[in-house]
Amino acid sequence: MCIMCLEILKGRMTILEGRKALTELVETTEERDLLKHYKELDEADDEKMLEIINRLDT
Ligand SMILES: [Zn+2]
Repeated sequence: MCIMCLEILKGRMTILEGRKALTELVETTEERDLLKHYKELDEADDEKMLEIINRLDT
């Protein structure tokens, strides 16, 4: 899982902070799979975003 999801999962970053980071990550990430992951999160609403992040923790 990516560092941002890990930080949110551990409670060291809020969803709101994550969203701010995502805006930048989507613009600066060149790695295709990671960019796809960031875009998926960026387009999701808060509930869906948490769902995706919790699903990663397996
Ligand atoms: Zn992630």
